[in-house]
Amino acid sequence: MSTSPYIGRLAPSPTGAQHLGNARTYIAAWLIARSRSGQLLLRIEDLDTPRTKTGADEQILVDLEWLGLDWDWSENLQRFTLQSQRASRYHELLEDLKRRELVYPCICSRTDIENASSAPHESHLDGAVYPGTCAGNDVSDAKQLDSLDKKYAWRFRFSKDENMTWVDEFCGIQSCIPSQVLGDFIVARNYGPIAYQLAVVADDHDSGINHVVRGNDLIYSTYRQIAIYNAFQWQPPIWLHIPLVVGPDGKRLAKRHGDTRISALRSLGWKPESIVGMIAKSLGLLDSERPIPLAELLDLALTNPDWLRKVPTTNVQFNI
Ligand code: GLU
Repeated sequence: MSTSPYIGRLAPSPTGAQHLGNARTYIAAWLIARSRSGQLLLRIEDLDTPRTKTGADEQILVDLEWLGLDWDWSENLQRFTLQSQRASRYHELLEDLKRRELVYPCICSRTDIENASSAPHESHLDGAVYPGTCAGNDVSDAKQLDSLDKKYAWRFRFSKDENMTWVDEFCGIQSCIPSQVLGDFIVARNYGPIAYQLAVVADDHDSGINHVVRGNDLIYSTYRQIAIYNAFQWQPPIWLHIPLVVGPDGKRLAKRHGDTRISALRSLGWKPESIVGMIAKSLGLLDSERPIPLAELLDLALTNPDWLRKVPTTNVQFNI
């Protein structure tokens, strides 16, 4: 366990409106941070430019505040961090990885990867496992690709056949051989913004985040992020991956499951206390669903210091 004061974060992506699934993760992250007298920072993950909707930043703040969530200002007195403003830092780190040949240029498209996998198997919610087609490249091979104006990605090379083990504070011990189970992964593209895996590690490290609470769809990304922490010899945070809200088909909550956007529920007349109550019940903090303001839920968590251990370990469904 980390002994420094708790610093956590909320990291919404403005690619779509925030829905009940996001709200549940943020409420869990907020309760864990606040019940440990921790700080909570807000970072808007707006790197995915084509999918980022204009005005979405503001909408995120409105939704979070309406639910009763609050967060702390960063050390440099910003109300939140925007990833799109940190490009030069990400590029500096990418250059460092290149200098040390920890990444290589890869020209494979998604279809190439799917076709090249002789026994295509899913890389745990992330698509096909990268078969290593370009793994023989070294950093200098990018020069030729540049001269031909080719599009390519920078892939991070996992240590071959090495086992990685880490402990999730919610899910327990995690272990796999990432080079076999996940395959080398993209940290940047020469034709777009830096990829999520590198940006998230740079941001969490630079802002002193030592606890990351997020949805369990990212549990396999953690192996990738640990490899990046290790490459820079940075201390990784403690991760807590919380089960997701799923639709009746058991898949992650999405548009096809109906409109569960916070903004839509608000326009239908829902009160924040009702949403918090429904989420509190799903987290095992209330025996039966009833409206409850977030501040009161924190009191409940404080009087039940073991509450996190009782959070159901399976994905949840809401009937609205
Ligand atoms: N921005 C991501 C999301 O909204 C979260 C990434 C993270 O927590 O590391 O799903």
